[in-house]
Amino acid sequence: MAIDPEFEDNYEEVERHEGHRVWTPDGEDPTEEKQGIHGTHVAVDFDICIADGACLEDCPVDVFEWVDTPGHPESEIKADPTHEDQCIDCMLCVDVCPVDAIDVDPSRAGRI
Ligand code: SF4
Repeated sequence: MAIDPEFEDNYEEVERHEGHRVWTPDGEDPTEEKQGIHGTHVAVDFDICIADGACLEDCPVDVFEWVDTPGHPESEIKADPTHEDQCIDCMLCVDVCPVDAIDVDPSRAGRI
């Protein structure tokens, strides 16, 4: 399962974390086991992320930082798009993510 590129329509914004939006499919607050999507311009589905780390290594402008997610079934750290405002839309992270957890859309840049 890949991140839903239409999450703005299909998910609800529930909170902000480290300056970016957090979205869940049902509008419920995130839990240890259901973390939702973090970010808007650069969106990472924490429930898909397996902490592979390629996005952190390859992003030329260091958009991502590790964040602890203890108790999550896929991985206990996640690639958080902490600096999504610095994204230059190169799409490297989208290409290297082995589980298609990341969606980047320049049209969403003004909505972070
Ligand atoms: S699209 Fe490029 S610049 Fe933007 S977060 Fe991904 S790797 Fe970084």
